[in-house]
Amino acid sequence: MQALPPTGVPAAQVLEEIAALRAADQPTHGGRLFAYVYDSGLADLDELTTAAHALGAPVNGLDPTAFPSLLAMENALVGAASALLGGGPGSPVVGNVTSGGTESLILAVKAARDAAGVAAPELVLPGTAHPSFVKAARYLGVRPVVVPVSPATLRPAVSAIADAITANTVLVACSAPAYPYGLVDPVAEIAEVAAERGVRCHVDACFGGWTLPYLRRLGVAVPPFDFSVPGVTSISVDLHKYAYAPKGVSVLLHRSDELRAAQYFAYADWPGYTMVNPTIASTRSGGPIAAAYATLRRLGDDGYLRLASSTWEAVRSLAAAVSTIDGLRLVAEPESTVVAFTSVDPGLDLFVLADELAERGWHTQPQLACPPGSAVAPEGLPRSIHLTVTAAVAPQVASFGPDLSAAVAAARSLGPTNVDESLLAVAAALTPDQLTLDTVAALAGGLGFSLAGGTSAPLPARRAAINTLVEAAAPAVREALFSAFLRLLQRPTYG
Ligand SMILES: *Cc1c(COP(=O)(O)O)cnc(C)c1O
Repeated sequence: MQALPPTGVPAAQVLEEIAALRAADQPTHGGRLFAYVYDSGLADLDELTTAAHALGAPVNGLDPTAFPSLLAMENALVGAASALLGGGPGSPVVGNVTSGGTESLILAVKAARDAAGVAAPELVLPGTAHPSFVKAARYLGVRPVVVPVSPATLRPAVSAIADAITANTVLVACSAPAYPYGLVDPVAEIAEVAAERGVRCHVDACFGGWTLPYLRRLGVAVPPFDFSVPGVTSISVDLHKYAYAPKGVSVLLHRSDELRAAQYFAYADWPGYTMVNPTIASTRSGGPIAAAYATLRRLGDDGYLRLASSTWEAVRSLAAAVSTIDGLRLVAEPESTVVAFTSVDPGLDLFVLADELAERGWHTQPQLACPPGSAVAPEGLPRSIHLTVTAAVAPQVASFGPDLSAAVAAARSLGPTNVDESLLAVAAALTPDQLTLDTVAALAGGLGFSLAGGTSAPLPARRAAINTLVEAAAPAVREALFSAFLRLLQRPTYG
């Protein structure tokens, strides 16, 4: 990007500039990126949503009485989510459209906190729950109480959740499914212990809320997780994930309007307009809402069933490819649209494997090990590779097995990442306060990062050494490191 040009640039050139910038991005289409993007693989759907986005973009969601089109579309989106998740016609379920899963979770925690009105509020959450819950807690002055997951089931023990609930607990969280391994928490049992103590229970179905009901219809064993479960008081579901809507749309549902009430902010004590907001943002673009509306209308129930079916076939096929490889092990049998695997062969380094897969055009998401003693799992959890599987993966899946075999052979012959032992020891001994911007800039330079910005990708293509080094650091150090790195990247550019 540039500072303002002295005179305006021709439209065609502006678009060329953006296209040139986009060239360094990971491929958002084509079914070979297993994180960040949710691709239906339907090109005509992309055309439709682009047009719908443009129709909605000038409209402001700030005032639904001025723009009833947005009110109508939002209510339709909430209705569709409610009907899919155990609400539906005649039910008291209500909800709002938010900008994404994080906003939905912040608002669920806020509504619970404000309604409870306790002095030192606490949020109980399993260690596999999304970090946005912790973000919500920190933003809202709520203490997060993390309940470990058992290494055998990778889920929290219901008794541990029950033990963590105190008089200060305003909300108990669980996931359907949790992102790292795609596993569904024991929602019915957790909601029951929350209800017994008179505490709200939020089900984070941001990731899987739009696929689990369809997977169930296809015969996959999906445990109850929605409003059919007594004690579930709110549910979040991201439309910009498995509803395949363009980014910027999630839905937060409450079992009743009474439970939702504390979510709203209203203010009249100034000379301007009376402000009433259900969400964090006040001015809201109608673009994402119109695009989501178009997506749901165009795909319809049968469209989502078809997409879920091809996605599930892709999941089974990817999992089978992993299972046939000596030295790799699925973290768990897939229960939703995630395939996660780990290495049980010391000669097969998962981070090297991720690099080799990237060289073959498969962009996976390495997940760092949790160190022993962590709140997530006192025994620790091994590193893993995460695949978020979407419908666009299905046509690609046949070539994954052979590419995985080749990548594994290449990773074995390269051997484990060779990072200097003394460097690893330094990483392990670091404390967050030692990571000044200067230290991190020097470290990044030494590791081949580019802090230049512009059209180059900031990370080198091969990342095994970086991942190994970062993994050696404690989670609090990783947080400081990544924050400093982003602060270095996020600098203004001028002309
Ligand atoms: C993606 C995700 C979130 C956060 O959603 P954003 O849209 O990225 O803000 C929350 N929970 C789960 C389980 C998720 O997968």
